[in-house]
Amino acid sequence: MYVLTRFVLLLSLVLAGSMPAIAQSPATAGARPNIVMIFCDDLTCQAISAYGESRHLLETPNIDRLAAQGVKFDRCLVTNSICGPSRATILTGKYSHRNGFYNNSNSKFDGSQQTFPKLLQSAGYQTALIGKWHLISDPTGFDFWHILPGQGLYYNPPMIKNGVKVQQDGYTTDVICDLSIDWLRQRDRTRPFLLMSQHKAPHREWAPALRHLGWDNDRVYPEPATLFDTFEGRSRAVADHDMGLDRTFTELDAKLRPSPNMTPEQLEVWNAYYGPRNAEFLAADLKGKDLVRWRYNRYMHDYLACVKAVDETVGRLLQALEDEGAAENTVVMFSSDQGFFLGEHGWFDKRWIFEESLRTPLLVRWPGVTEPGSVCGEIVSLLDFAQTFLELAGIEQPGDMQGRSLVPLLRGEVPSDWRKSLYYHYYEFPVPHRVRPHRGVITERYKLVHYYKPDIDEWELLDRAADPEETKNFYADPAYATIVGELHRELTRLQQEVQDTEEPPRSAFGNERFEGEPPAESAPKPKRSGKGPGK
Ligand code: CA
Repeated sequence: MYVLTRFVLLLSLVLAGSMPAIAQSPATAGARPNIVMIFCDDLTCQAISAYGESRHLLETPNIDRLAAQGVKFDRCLVTNSICGPSRATILTGKYSHRNGFYNNSNSKFDGSQQTFPKLLQSAGYQTALIGKWHLISDPTGFDFWHILPGQGLYYNPPMIKNGVKVQQDGYTTDVICDLSIDWLRQRDRTRPFLLMSQHKAPHREWAPALRHLGWDNDRVYPEPATLFDTFEGRSRAVADHDMGLDRTFTELDAKLRPSPNMTPEQLEVWNAYYGPRNAEFLAADLKGKDLVRWRYNRYMHDYLACVKAVDETVGRLLQALEDEGAAENTVVMFSSDQGFFLGEHGWFDKRWIFEESLRTPLLVRWPGVTEPGSVCGEIVSLLDFAQTFLELAGIEQPGDMQGRSLVPLLRGEVPSDWRKSLYYHYYEFPVPHRVRPHRGVITERYKLVHYYKPDIDEWELLDRAADPEETKNFYADPAYATIVGELHRELTRLQQEVQDTEEPPRSAFGNERFEGEPPAESAPKPKRSGKGPGK
């Protein structure tokens, strides 16, 4: 059933034309390869043309070039669909309950624990981290780091360079690319390197580069079929959210007021675009579905413009690798910390086990090894990244990591015992979006989901074959009784395998009180969540 499908796109031959003749030089794969990880925040597959979404929202020629020259993973899934936890999972190769970073509210990464950059560093790799970090504690395991504090700003960002505050000018996506290229040019050429180039974009509030304002010529975007989802027949958890375009969209999200930190000259350009459009919107006094539609189109303009800038910088970074003569012996990996809703179910944001936020882009180019234009449909995860990087670098994989190296898949081989299911666990509640904690099991076709806290005990069964848009709950349907039983057993098996059988600590859900919960003073003292196990 699971076959690594391979096909060479005719297009790839054209796109690959500017690359050196790397496919004919397998010897390059013998030396320890360099690793460039280009990482985005909240970039979803629907916004990447290589993933071929039916709305055709955006062309991303530079990102697509990686797909044409390497492997496109069609089903790379996350284990806890939210920023900080995904990053902690990538670094450690462990689930949130094993690395201690559960949520974006009160978690702090314990930088003393084992991470793959530390292991690469101790094996002689030079390691650099540039851009968004978001794990609160200072980075460890990097020879050089130049990061945004916290979420960072879209314009003229303050940054922290090896512990020292610095001020950068310009659009943050461009700045991160420039700093990454600068680092490449001054690296030690005698040693292999790891460069993690991590964008803030296209995270909320989706603020475009000023050069991209109006890039879409006021296009009216095709709507997802579920823009006005009624959640009929679904768990109360799904209906009782706070992340809809109809209710949670702020003035900043809508660009009815400007993002912070622009210069007066930049603000003038910003006002020239948004000003007249905002005036027209306010005069129209839209309500109901008309208001949602206006917000959806504004959201698409802004979000996709942010991705457009990312795509341009991917092209610049790939060109810099070629200019440096490093492209042939560098594995380039492109991904994001999770997917995102682009209006599906009427939502923005992420968190849910549903496909749009569960699935994240993953493209890998390994010259001489990855078959150009190949597609892998296996269930892989960002849980697998750490072990992949270790195997690429020829470093033994520690036994306590919980993923699996993707190197065989990159070579076009699918191990006969490759996973057929993945375990998922989301925690943060009730702020910021009232998405209830849930755990579940994911297979190629089904998802069994348990909403278990704090005021709920409900199950859902999703069937992607019968209901690709995930608008129905088949859990109580007698026709699904057998599969429900099988998935219950598989969920229990996975919980034991990943050692997530204990009740999570109260702090795993964040600091905010649940409704009816006693105030913090009289509640049991939350366990500090920054500590990871296994030290
Ligand atoms: Ca994110």
